[in-house]
Amino acid sequence: MSKPQYTPLDEIDKIYDELRAGFQSGKTKSIEYRKYLLVQLMYMVKDNAERFENALKEDLGRPPFESHFFEISASLTEIKDTYSHIDKWVKSEKPPFSLNWSAMKPVIYKEPKGVVLIISPFNYPVYLTIPVLASAIAAGNAVVVKPSESTPATSALMAELAEEYLDTSVVRFVNGAVPETTRLLEKPWGHILYTGGGRVAKIISAAAAKTLSPISLELGGKSPVFIDPNCDIKLAARRILWGKVANAGQTCVAPDYVLVVEEFQDKLIQALKEVYKEFYPTAEGSKAEGVFARMCTVQGLKRVDEFLKNSKGEIVLGGEVDETDKFIAPTVVKNIRPGDSLMNEEIFGPVLPIMPVKDLDEAIAYVNSHDHPLTLYVFSQDSKFKEKVFRNTQSGSAVANDTLIIPAVEGIPFGGIGPSGSGYHTGKYGFDMFTHLRASIDSPGWIDMVMKFRYPPYTANKRKA
Ligand code: NAD
Repeated sequence: MSKPQYTPLDEIDKIYDELRAGFQSGKTKSIEYRKYLLVQLMYMVKDNAERFENALKEDLGRPPFESHFFEISASLTEIKDTYSHIDKWVKSEKPPFSLNWSAMKPVIYKEPKGVVLIISPFNYPVYLTIPVLASAIAAGNAVVVKPSESTPATSALMAELAEEYLDTSVVRFVNGAVPETTRLLEKPWGHILYTGGGRVAKIISAAAAKTLSPISLELGGKSPVFIDPNCDIKLAARRILWGKVANAGQTCVAPDYVLVVEEFQDKLIQALKEVYKEFYPTAEGSKAEGVFARMCTVQGLKRVDEFLKNSKGEIVLGGEVDETDKFIAPTVVKNIRPGDSLMNEEIFGPVLPIMPVKDLDEAIAYVNSHDHPLTLYVFSQDSKFKEKVFRNTQSGSAVANDTLIIPAVEGIPFGGIGPSGSGYHTGKYGFDMFTHLRASIDSPGWIDMVMKFRYPPYTANKRKA
């Protein structure tokens, strides 16, 4: 697989100008044309599913099933959903009837924002690029996509296929790292969608402020798991461990850490150990070929390894780190205390710290004293327990008795709150993000029979009226 050629900086200026011209040609105004591009995008993924799986294996050491489930199939579902709803979503809307204003025929047109920029991360390089590209196309925009430089094989493949399947006058991929992204950010954009970490989000937001480009941020955070001892323990262990091992924990909605009452901690650990054996039944365990993803970069591995080395907790499962293979075993660490090295930043690796608490109130207080997470998980059979957690915390989304799948659930928005992001995507919410609501009226002359008083001179009589 070839590595992507970084787009020359001067070429970036040219691409931007060409896309502005493409947008101004008006071709993306046609809904039929947008649908054509969506179909092409669908075939781009479908025809090349195996190439994508191979590229993702090369970049992330991922089992092909995981790539198929989380990226290929999930992207196809979202493109199809967008295609089948576009006619409804683009329809202009009328506000509720108002005697005062209805004569002016108020209407809200759904218009594209113009030339938009999508900057995507390494962890799910297809799923976090293709469906949002579909949303931007459906909304009638011209689009520049800047995929991650940390997944060179997948980024090269997307750029190559986009040229083949899509229309280069309205969709272009720019490959590169910081200098290329910086150059892109010098331009004014109809909208910028950035998916990635909070540190870079601040740089992107500051650059967007200079051109007054509107921006949505899809970020991460430490998504906690609340465990009720009155839960289905086996189900909880299976879903939590799955949330941590999928893509080797490099998932924005991965369960980051567990909060559980002290007396229940060991029972949960026992269940996690049993599930680990079910997931990886051979003698080699998760290290066996093709069963478990690797860390995307050595830098990412070292970061998580540092957290582990400095932790005061006790490793009760896994713990092996092999830099040459970018491998970190699924690891569970118990007796974690606030302030531990595993509790300061989003882990973004297959390590699960368990923090024992006195009771649910202490767990809620702990979560509320930190940044609002991207999502929050509760495992319980008791509706009062779930309600108490949901009502007394804030997070991008709130999930009971499952992990990971919330972004894939059709019909609901996905997005963070505060430090975990702003703005929503998936489905109609993605379409809305890239759509300008253009309010319009058409005021007839006869209105002046009742509204002529608004014009000067502003006599004393008028003020009394
Ligand atoms: P990152 O912030 O390092 O990189 C993301 C993108 O930003 C890349 O395209 C990169 O080229 C660009 N970039 C990096 N440094 C830059 C700079 N100085 N100037 C301009 N552009 C720059 O993010 P990442 O490490 O690839 O992704 C991991 C983070 O993303 C995690 O925090 C995770 O939780 C979050 N995430 C969020 C979502 C979501 O939907 N909310 C999804 C996936 C990942």
